[in-house]
Amino acid sequence: MAPSDRSGGPIGPFVTHLECSATGEKHPADTLQRLSPAGAPFLVRYDLEGIAKAVNRDDLLRRPADMWRCSELLPVPGPGDIVNLGEAATPVVGLPRLAARLGATEIMVKDEGRLPTGSFKARGLAMAVTMAKVFGVTRLAMPTAGNAGSATAAYAAHAGMESYVFTPDDTAETTVREIAYHGARVYRVNGLVNACAKVVHQGTEAMGWFDLTTLEEPYRIEGKKTMGLELADQLGWELPDAIYYPTGGGTGFIGMWKAFAELEAIGWIGAKRPRMVAVQSTGCGPIVKAFEAGADHVAEAWADAETILHGVRVPKPLGDRLILKVIAESNGWAIAVSDAEVVDARAEVAREEGLHLCPEGAATYAAYLKDLAAGRLGPGDRVVLFNTASGLKSTMPPMEKRLDHTQTIDYATL
Ligand SMILES: *Cc1c(COP(=O)(O)O)cnc(C)c1O
Repeated sequence: MAPSDRSGGPIGPFVTHLECSATGEKHPADTLQRLSPAGAPFLVRYDLEGIAKAVNRDDLLRRPADMWRCSELLPVPGPGDIVNLGEAATPVVGLPRLAARLGATEIMVKDEGRLPTGSFKARGLAMAVTMAKVFGVTRLAMPTAGNAGSATAAYAAHAGMESYVFTPDDTAETTVREIAYHGARVYRVNGLVNACAKVVHQGTEAMGWFDLTTLEEPYRIEGKKTMGLELADQLGWELPDAIYYPTGGGTGFIGMWKAFAELEAIGWIGAKRPRMVAVQSTGCGPIVKAFEAGADHVAEAWADAETILHGVRVPKPLGDRLILKVIAESNGWAIAVSDAEVVDARAEVAREEGLHLCPEGAATYAAYLKDLAAGRLGPGDRVVLFNTASGLKSTMPPMEKRLDHTQTIDYATL
């Protein structure tokens, strides 16, 4: 079936049901859902046999290289339903100079900063806003560390929907202004993203908005899943040895793992999987703490979370069990880096390779350096680091040098 043949119901033709990630209980996918009755995230399930028969991976070559490419594996009913701001496939950029210095075979960066609104949050929100629109939602609410707010505001505007965004009061000025500029009602809240989520939850009754909180609706994860589909496609259906991912709510981490399972089930990749490495901060590392304790969930929220990695500043992710399960199943690990290590890593990659990572993206490089030094992986391992946003969204060190063109310039001192 060609993608243009699809129309009709509110959900993609290959979607069979929603599955509670805690109990496995099946629920219908043709109505708008949030959390499962058990309070756990829903996972979208597909007729994978049907997809395997309907499409093969060479068919993709005739389709645009964007996040909608493997449409059979997505919940969208048809191409005309997509709220589309141009979600082009993001490039995989090598770090050859740094790799040579480290004696490493290959370091690759999947640069998600090229997406609309400058971060990979576009993938999750393009999908979630598309599905909310299909189901007739007109008003959205989002608690966010910032980037998800930018994406919500932009996709809501494009869909002709209202949006309300709540963000911690230390969120970058450019981000807050960007959110407001796209017409969202945005408020700085005197707390972290969990406090913002409380504001959203408590306002649902009065405001009648659809709550897009991370993992509390089924579709953002399907949007983030496209990182896994796209990476496999770009690497010739041969996955790397390890993936480093800055993990906050964990949507992308869980989503990519789901993508790999689905790709294997339809016969597009083999059994080989990357080791999945969750990168967090020494100032907020609940997954690292749980991993090191051998636990399968986060026992208590991280107290006094403090880090420049706003995207991973999530004291107690709702998807904690799913994240830790991916780490266990992939024989991966979780690792924390300090803000100082991140600052050095970001500057080094910008200076040596011309690639401007966001702090969260730089954290993956800092973590890779530590793991390489510790022998957790070898120089021959092919790694993919996820740069989750454009470096331009974060502050840079000041630059104060000036020249007076009316005076004689001593060029030797430049
Ligand atoms: C949201 C965000 C993250 C964390 O993403 P999850 O998939 O929710 O774990 C990482 N980096 C940046 C820049 C973000 O905005």
